[in-house]
Amino acid sequence: MSTVPPLLTMMNELLSEISVSSTSAQWDTGNRQVIDKLAGWLSSLGFNCEIIPLAEQANKANLIATLGSGPGGLVLSGHTDTVPFNEELWDMNPLSLTEQDNKLFGLGSTDMKGFFPIAIEAAKAFLDQPLKEPLIILATADEESSMDGARELAAQGAPKARFAVIGEPTDLKPIRMHKGMMMNAIKVEGRAGHSSNPSLGNNAMEAMHIVMADLMAFRAELQERYNNPLFKVTVPTLNLGCIHGGDNPNRICGQCELHFDVRALPGMSNADVLNEISQRLKPLATQLKVNISLRSLIKPLAPFEQSADSVLVKAAEQLTGHSAESVAFATEGPLLQQLGMETIVMGPGSIDQAHQPNEYMALNQVQPAVDLLAQLIGRFCL
Ligand SMILES: [Zn+2]
Repeated sequence: MSTVPPLLTMMNELLSEISVSSTSAQWDTGNRQVIDKLAGWLSSLGFNCEIIPLAEQANKANLIATLGSGPGGLVLSGHTDTVPFNEELWDMNPLSLTEQDNKLFGLGSTDMKGFFPIAIEAAKAFLDQPLKEPLIILATADEESSMDGARELAAQGAPKARFAVIGEPTDLKPIRMHKGMMMNAIKVEGRAGHSSNPSLGNNAMEAMHIVMADLMAFRAELQERYNNPLFKVTVPTLNLGCIHGGDNPNRICGQCELHFDVRALPGMSNADVLNEISQRLKPLATQLKVNISLRSLIKPLAPFEQSADSVLVKAAEQLTGHSAESVAFATEGPLLQQLGMETIVMGPGSIDQAHQPNEYMALNQVQPAVDLLAQLIGRFCL
C-alpha cells in the first residue's frame, strides 16, 4: 500500500509552498506547488487526480481528487491560497510549521491549508474498502481574492456530488449560512469651474452628498425589510467605505467617486439590490443635472444558506452536538451549491486566528477533525 508522510509533515510541506492570492500583482504568487503536492499524495493513495488550470492564470489551478466512482458522494473542499503576509510581524517563520504551546503556527495553518492533511488522514482509513459513493477532495485557487477557482468550477459543472463540506475554520461547528458580499462604486460627474461663481460649474461633491443620503435611506429601508435573528448582525449592511473627489478648495468639484459594500442576507438577491440602487440614482441624476454611474468593483458573491432540514446539516449536527449556525465571513459555499450539492462549512481551527500574524490551529482540534471527517465519509460514501 502506498503511503503519504505523517500528518504534521504534510502540513509543514504545504505551509512551506507559498500560495498567496491577492488582487494586487506584487503579492500574488499562484498556488501550483500546493496543488501539485496534494495531487502527488492523493494519487499515491489511489485517488484519481484532475488538475484544472484557471482560464487566464497558468500558475493557478483547482484540483479534483476522486476516490471511487459513481453519482452522489461527498466533497471535502478547501482553498489552497492564503492572504498576503508581513514576515516581520511574525514571531516565527510563517512559511513553515512551528509547533509550540499546543498550537500549530504558520501562514494557512488554520485558513486553510492545514485542512488538507487532516482530510487526507481521514481518507486513509477508507482506502481498502470499496466505496459505494465517491469521496472527492477538492482544492481550489484564489478564494482569498476573486474566488475565481470556485467560480470556474461552478461554470464547468464539476465536481458533482451530493454533499460538500468546506473545511474553513469554524471550531468544528457546522455552519449553514453567511451573508453575501458585493463592492460597488458610484461615480458622479459634474463640471469643474472657478469657486467664486457657482454658475461656472456643477458641484459633483454636493451631488454626491445627496446620493449618499439616498443610499443611507435605502439602507434603512433594506433593514426594515430584511432581518434574520440567526445572524449576529441581524440586518443587511451597506457600508460607505471610501470617497475621492475634487482637488482644490477654490475649484468647483468636477468629479466624485464613492466605494461601498453591501452584505445581503440569505433570501436577498445581489442583482435586485443593485438594480434598486440604480433605479434610485436615475431621478437624482436628472434632478441634479450630473452624470451618475454605478459599477461593480468585484464579482459579487451570493448570500449562502443551506436549509436546516438538509441531510448533511442534520448529520453534522448529530455528529458534533452543535446546531448549525451562521458566520460573518464569506466562503465558496454559494458556488458549490450552484453545482447542486448540499453544502455546509465546518472545519478545524478558529477564524479569530486567520488573516493575521502568528496564525495557528490549536493542536487539540486536529484529531477530532480527523475523526469527524472520517465519520462523514463513513456515513456518505460507504
Ligand atoms: Zn479561508
